[in-house]
Amino acid sequence: MSGNISEFSAEEKQLIQDHFQDLLASARLSQSPEDQALITKAFNLANGAHDKMRRKSGEPYILHPIAVAKIATTEIGLGTNSIVSALLHDVVEDTDFTVDDIRMQFGEKVANIVDGLTKIAGVFDGQSDLQAENFKKIIMTMSNDLRVIFIKLADRLHNMRTLDSMPPNKQLKISSETLYIYAPLAHRLGLYSIKTELEDLCLKYHHPIEYRRIAEFIKTSESKRFTYINKFSLPITARLNAEKYTYEITGRPKSIYSIWHKMETKKVSLDEIYDLFAIRIIFDPDPNLPEKAQCWAIYSIITDIYAPRPDRLRDWISKPKSNGYEALHTTVMGPGGQWVEVQIRSRRMNEIAERGYAAHWKYKENTTSENELDKWIFEIRKQLEDPKTDAFDFLDEFKLNLFASEITVFTPKGESITLPSKSTVLDFAFEIHSEVGFHAYGAKVNHKLVALNQELNAGDQIEILTSEKQLPDADWVNYVSTAKARNAIKNYFKDQRRNVATDGKVHLEWLLEQCHMQISSNIIRKLSNHYQSKNKDELYYKLGLNKISTDEFRKIMETRSQSKWMKFWSISRSKNNNPTEKFDKSKPLIVDDGTQGYQIATCCNPIPGDDVIGYRLTDNELVIHSTSCPNAIRLNSSDSSNVVKVEWRSHKLMAFLGRLRIKGVYSPDAINEVTKVITNKLDVNLRSINIDCHDGIFEGKIDVYVHNNDFLTELINKLSKIKEVSHVTRDILENKN
Ligand code: MN
Repeated sequence: MSGNISEFSAEEKQLIQDHFQDLLASARLSQSPEDQALITKAFNLANGAHDKMRRKSGEPYILHPIAVAKIATTEIGLGTNSIVSALLHDVVEDTDFTVDDIRMQFGEKVANIVDGLTKIAGVFDGQSDLQAENFKKIIMTMSNDLRVIFIKLADRLHNMRTLDSMPPNKQLKISSETLYIYAPLAHRLGLYSIKTELEDLCLKYHHPIEYRRIAEFIKTSESKRFTYINKFSLPITARLNAEKYTYEITGRPKSIYSIWHKMETKKVSLDEIYDLFAIRIIFDPDPNLPEKAQCWAIYSIITDIYAPRPDRLRDWISKPKSNGYEALHTTVMGPGGQWVEVQIRSRRMNEIAERGYAAHWKYKENTTSENELDKWIFEIRKQLEDPKTDAFDFLDEFKLNLFASEITVFTPKGESITLPSKSTVLDFAFEIHSEVGFHAYGAKVNHKLVALNQELNAGDQIEILTSEKQLPDADWVNYVSTAKARNAIKNYFKDQRRNVATDGKVHLEWLLEQCHMQISSNIIRKLSNHYQSKNKDELYYKLGLNKISTDEFRKIMETRSQSKWMKFWSISRSKNNNPTEKFDKSKPLIVDDGTQGYQIATCCNPIPGDDVIGYRLTDNELVIHSTSCPNAIRLNSSDSSNVVKVEWRSHKLMAFLGRLRIKGVYSPDAINEVTKVITNKLDVNLRSINIDCHDGIFEGKIDVYVHNNDFLTELINKLSKIKEVSHVTRDILENKN
C-alpha cells in the first residue's frame, strides 16, 4: 500500500492541514464541538502514525485516509463514528497501533469498525488471491456493521480515483476486482453514483480508447442535449410553476460505462444510441399531502403534455426496489418523435437514490426498506453457512442476484413475493419452499395451466402443482434464475453425483487390484485425459457412470498422455511455441510478429489492436484474452499474480481470425457487392461467409483472417457504404470445442 518513507516538507505539512480542515468543514452531520474534537483526535493519531509515510504517487499517506473520510461523509452521508473509523482505517494494518489501542481511545464501536476494515484489508488487498473465499468473509463482516462495507467502498473509490500512479498490471487487477465485486456491491447497497463512478473508472483502464471516445462524444453533444432538454422541459415547467411546485429539472447524461455496455451487448454504434440521457424531476413535497400522490400528480402533468409509452412505466414508489430505491419512471414521446425517459422523485427519494442505504438512517421512520436489506443479508448468510455451497459458485450466484431487476408476483392467497425479473414458475416454487420446488410438476398462472419453465410477469398469481412422485430433472437448472432455486437443484444433484462418484472410486480400486497396479499420479493423469475431466471428483463420477472393463483400462494406460492444459483452458496454439523469456510483470509485454510462446484464448478471440491481457499458464506459456472477456475479469481478480499487461506491436505477417455480423435489405446485387468488397481487399483473407435471407432481409456472419483490428474497421467501413447494408458490427467469435 504505502510507498517510500521520508520527512515531509513545510508545504506538505500545510497541505495536510488544509485537507483536514476541509474535511472538518464538510462533515455536515458532525458540527458539534464534541464531534469535531473526536474527529480531530482521530486525525492527530492517524497523522502521527502515518508520519513520513508516502503513497505510490509520492504524496503524504495521510491524505488517503482524509480523502476516504471525506467520501464517507459527503458522498455516502455517514456520521462521526464513520469519519473517525475512516481516518483510522489503515492505522492498525500499516503501523504499530493495535485494535486495543483504538478501543481505549475511541470506544467499542469505532474499534469494531476498524477491526473489520483491517480484517478485510488483510485478506483482500494483500497477497492472497482467493477472492471468493475472502468475499465470504466480507459478507460475514457486513452483517455485523454495514459501515465497514461503506468505508471499504469509500476506500476503494479513492484508490480507483488515484490508480494512475500504480503499475499497469496492478491497475488491471484492481480495476477487475472493482468491476467484479465492488461495483455490484455498491449497486446492491443503493449507492448509484459510486457504482457508476467505479464502473467508469474500470472502463478507463480496461478500454482506454473507447472510454475517451465516448467521453468526448458526450462532451461534444452537450450543447445539443441542453437545447433539447430545454425545449422538452418548457411546457412542463410552465405547468409546475402554475401549480406552485418547488422542484428542479435536470437532464443527466447516462454514464460512460452504461453507454459502452449497451454498445457491446446490443451491438450498436455510438450514434445509434438515442437515450443518452434521462430527465429527472426532483421536488420538495408539500408536507400536508402524501408524497406518493404528489408524484402521480406530476406524472399526470407530464403525460398531459407528452404521450407515455405504456410498457415503460415503472412504479418503485408503491413497492421500492430491495436496495431501497424509490421513484416513478416513465418514457414519453418528446419533441421530434424521440423517446425520453423521465424520473420523478421527491427530495427524500433522490437522496436515497444517491446515497442508498446510508440515507435511510436519516429518514428511518418513513421507510420499510431496511427490512428488505436485512432480509437479503439474512438470505446470504444462510447460503454461506450451507457447507455444500462452494465459494466460487456462491460468488457467481451472488452477482447474479445483485444485478437482477425485480418483479412482484402473488400466491393464491394474495401474499406478495419479490423475484428477479425473468424468474420462472420453478423459481417461484423454490421461493415458497425447496420441498415445493423438488416436487413441482406444473402450475396455474392466473388460473391457466403452464409448464415449469414458464417465465413470470409482474402481477401474476401462481399456484404450484406438486406430486410426491415428481423428482428434480437435470434440465431444471436451465429453467431457473434465482440463486436459491439454482443452489437447491445443484445441491440435489451434487448429492446424487457424490453417490455415483463413490461408485466410480470403488470401481477404480477394483480395476487396479485386477491389474496388480498401485495408484499413482501417472494413472490419474492418463485417466483424466481419457475422460477429459478437470479434477478427481469429475473423474470418479465419469468412471462411476461408465464402468470400463480391465481390457479398456489397460489400453488407456498404454496411451501416451498429452498436456491436460490444452483441454482445460481450451486454447488454440499459435504457430510458434518456443519458450518466451521470463515475463517482467511490472512492464507491459510487447507482442509482435517475432513474439513466440503465446496463444490466443478461444473464448474471446482477441486480435492485434484490441485491449488485451496475458495470462501465464507456465513460465513460458501465455494466453491472451480480451480485457472485457468474463474469463479474463475472473482471472484478474482470482489469480492476478499470473496476469500481465500486453501491448500489441504491428503485426504484418501473422493473421488472426475475426468475425463480422452484417444485416441489410436483400437483393442478389447486395450479396454480390458484399462478397466483392471482401474478396477485393488483398490484406483480408476470407475464411467463411454465411448468409441467411428471410422476409426481404439478409443477415450474415463473415469470418476473415486479418493482421490487426484496423483491417476489420476498414472492412466494416467499406461494407457499410453498400446502400442495402444497414448494420455491420464486429462480433465475438466463440469456438465451442
Ligand atoms: Mn486504504
